[in-house]
Amino acid sequence: MNAPLTSDMAHSLAGTPTHAKQAVETFLSHGTRSPKEYGGTVNPPVCRASTIVFESMQDMDERQQAIDHDEAGVMWYGRKGTPTTFALQESIAYLEGGYRTLLASSGLAACIAALSAFVKAGDHILMGDSVYGPTRHYATSILARYGIATTFYDPAIGAGIEALIRPNTRVVYVESPGSQTFEVQDIPAIAACAHRHGARVVMDNTWASPLYFKPFEHGVDVSVQACTKYITGHSDALLGSITSTREAWQEVRSYVYAHGLNAGPDDVYLAQRGLRTLSVRLERHQRNALEVAHWLAAQTAVEQVLYPALPGSPGHELWKRDFTGASGLMGLVLKPCAAQSLRDFVDSLELFHLGFSWGGFESMIMPQDPMPTREASRWPYAGPLIRLHIGLESPDDLIADLKEGFARL
Ligand SMILES: *Cc1c(COP(=O)(O)O)cnc(C)c1O
Repeated sequence: MNAPLTSDMAHSLAGTPTHAKQAVETFLSHGTRSPKEYGGTVNPPVCRASTIVFESMQDMDERQQAIDHDEAGVMWYGRKGTPTTFALQESIAYLEGGYRTLLASSGLAACIAALSAFVKAGDHILMGDSVYGPTRHYATSILARYGIATTFYDPAIGAGIEALIRPNTRVVYVESPGSQTFEVQDIPAIAACAHRHGARVVMDNTWASPLYFKPFEHGVDVSVQACTKYITGHSDALLGSITSTREAWQEVRSYVYAHGLNAGPDDVYLAQRGLRTLSVRLERHQRNALEVAHWLAAQTAVEQVLYPALPGSPGHELWKRDFTGASGLMGLVLKPCAAQSLRDFVDSLELFHLGFSWGGFESMIMPQDPMPTREASRWPYAGPLIRLHIGLESPDDLIADLKEGFARL
């Protein structure tokens, strides 16, 4: 049953947070929901709306003024949000530690909107060489066509990025760790350089989720989540979020509205539902992943485990300095082997399914080849790279599955 939704309710959902001092776990359980307003339902219902009708011309004028004053949660037209979207936007803004959040229909749509919001023809972007492939493709194909140049940099660059900044550099786009090759970047050092030269720092923060890396405490201006991953957490919805500082907000908002970006109410609802259990799931992903990573590191077929939380893994020291936890996604570099052996290994696994995406409750595997796209950094390994997502299964069963697989290598 959906209780009638009024603009008052929307206001109260997206209004001044009453949860400023709550621990994250408590916020995840209680934040941005108000059962009293929906006839007692525990979760804010799915609100389906294109048209929002106004009570009068005066009502319409008042809402317009509220929008002009940048008030959150104003019901105006479905594309600009409903109580369903306002609740998730407020949740993510709170968790990331930013000013406001807007949603897009996929993580990729959110990445490219956050990137494009700050550039015009003639501008220049710096992008980490380990960035998510489709984001890279957008920069080199579409943005290049509009006269916006992108230079890729070695993810290990840190403060050395200063040398690559040009007078027309507007955005430094970071993803840390890279979701395919897991280099951890020195975000505070990069952000300090970028800001000295008037550039914005846009970060894809999907790997750590808003729980394990606080982008705005490390100098980031805009943070993106592929909510498709851990926030939804069940591999059954596509969604992206863009969260910004107050300073960057007008540019983000104007770009998102001008492009008509929005997200369907069912996907938004599923993401908000997934968010309720995020801290519990991530804790388990991390524990399982650490156990599997330790085991993998001791196998003779393994050249290197790329999991920043594992001592000895590349980026471990930076991860320890800046992150408060690790998720379940890691890289595994095998010693060089025949292509058919790799296929036999992947195909023999029963619990690790072959498929794109990650962040759901289940384990996944995907061979990767970082070589063809690298231009600013050398990929140092000769053997094959495999990406593993460690799910919520028993780690003993996952290890037994991998052990069987290694027997076929
Ligand atoms: C999956 C992913 C995206 C894109 O998300 P979609 O919802 O699949 O479009 C963006 N960035 C990273 C790091 C990802 O892993």
